[in-house]
Amino acid sequence: MSTPTADTFDPAWMDRYVLPNYGRFPVWMERGEGSYLWDREGKKYLDFAGGVAVSTLGHAHPELASAIADQARTLIHVSNWYCIRQQAELAHLLVEKVVRLPGKCFFCNSGAEANEGLIKLARKYGVATPTPDGSPRHEIITFSGSFHGRTFGAMSATAQEKIHGGFGPIVPGFVYAPFNDIAALEAAITPRTVAILLEPVQGESGIHPASADFLRAAARLCREKDLLLLLDEVQCGLGRTGDLAGWRSILPGDEIQPDAISWAKSIGAGFPLGGFWVRQRPLSSHPDQALCDLLGPGTHGTTYGGSPLACTVGLTVLGIILRDQLPTRAASLGQRIARDVAAWQHPLVSDIRAHGLMIGFELNAEALQHHPEIVASGKPASIWLAARLLAAGLLVTPAGPNTIRWLPPLNVTDADVETGLAIMHRVLNETHAALPTSSAQPVAS
Ligand SMILES: *Cc1c(COP(=O)(O)O)cnc(C)c1O
Repeated sequence: MSTPTADTFDPAWMDRYVLPNYGRFPVWMERGEGSYLWDREGKKYLDFAGGVAVSTLGHAHPELASAIADQARTLIHVSNWYCIRQQAELAHLLVEKVVRLPGKCFFCNSGAEANEGLIKLARKYGVATPTPDGSPRHEIITFSGSFHGRTFGAMSATAQEKIHGGFGPIVPGFVYAPFNDIAALEAAITPRTVAILLEPVQGESGIHPASADFLRAAARLCREKDLLLLLDEVQCGLGRTGDLAGWRSILPGDEIQPDAISWAKSIGAGFPLGGFWVRQRPLSSHPDQALCDLLGPGTHGTTYGGSPLACTVGLTVLGIILRDQLPTRAASLGQRIARDVAAWQHPLVSDIRAHGLMIGFELNAEALQHHPEIVASGKPASIWLAARLLAAGLLVTPAGPNTIRWLPPLNVTDADVETGLAIMHRVLNETHAALPTSSAQPVAS
C-alpha cells in the first residue's frame, strides 16, 4: 500500500526528519510472525528483544490481529464520559485473576503514564493523611537502578542521573535509597514520607530482583508508618517472571499486599495500553473512605485511555496468557535457558539472572575491555555485543554497559529457544577467540 504522498521513501528521512533521541541500529523491520522479524532486505531475525518486553505473544498473533480488526470495525473510541464494557471486563479480569485482592483499575496508554497515576495517588494520600502539624506528606522513596519512565514525574522518580540529568529542576519529593538495603530504606523514611515505589524485578538496569527480605521489610515499614507500597510491574508484570503478579514470583501468595500496581508493556502486546490497580482498603484517617476511591471525579483522566479497542486488546492478550498458562511456561523456559547457558561455563558470561523470561546475562567486563573491536568502537560491551548478535540474526536488548537481556515472547517455542541459544553461544565463542591471548581464559568444553 502506498502512502498519500508524491515522494518515494528515502532511508535518509529517518535522520533528516526524526529526532535523534535513540542510538538506532541501522536496520528497518518490515514484518513479523511469531518470534521472528524480517527487515527490508528480507533478512530474518529471532526476536528475543521483544520490543523491550512488549511482544508477549510474538508478532502478528492471528487471534490478536482478528480481535483488533473486529473491534476496529465495531467501535474504536468513545470518551470516558460513557461506560465502556471492555474496560469493566478488563478491570474485572485484572482484579480477580491477576492481583486477586479487592481493588479498582484505571487505564491509560503507557508505563510512564501508569506510574504518573501512582505518584498522583500517593500525593492525594499524603493530603488525606497529613503529618501531625497538618502539612501534607509528599515524599516518595525510590531506588538506585530503578526506571519508571520518561515523563516528568516518572523521570523524577527514576533514581538515575543519566535519565533526569539536564532536565532540572525535576519534580521535588523523591528520595532515592539504595536498592535491597533494608537499613538504608528505614533511614530514608521521614515524617513527610508517604510511599515506597519499586520494581519487584528491575528491568532497565539489568534484571535485578528485590530480595524476599527487602520486599517483606518494605511491606512492614509501609504498615508501621502508614505508607503506600507502590509496585511498578510495567516490565515484570502479567506473567513474564513466571507469575501473573511479578512480586509473587519473589514472595508467593498474599504475604505482602501492595497498595497499587502499574502495568503496561505485556498487557498490550504492542498496542499502547497501560493501567494501574489501587487496593480497596480504608484510609487510616477516614475509615469510611476507600483508597481505591481517592482519585474521584475531576482528579485524574485521559482522553485515549481505556478505549473499547485498547481494552479489547488487553482482554485478548490476558485471555491468551491465562488460557495457555504462559506464566508457567515462562518459569520453566527461564530455568531451562539459565541451566543451558550456565553449562557452557563461558568465560565471557559472569552472571545469569533469570526470572522467568526476563533474563539478564552479565558479561565479563574485565575481559571484554581488552577486545580490540570493542575498544575501537568506543561503545559499551553490551551494545557492541547486541550489534554482533543482530548481525548474526538474534535480537537482544542491552541493559546497562555490561548486561544483555533476553525478553522473548511468552509463547516462544522450544525450537526457537534452541536457535537463540546456538546463535548466542557461537557469537560468544567468536568474541572470545578475538581477545588478545593474555586476557582470554579457555572456553570450557
Ligand atoms: C518501560 C518501563 C516504564 C516506562 O514505560 P513507557 O511505556 O515507556 O512509558 C516504566 N517502568 C518500567 C519498570 C519499565 O520497564
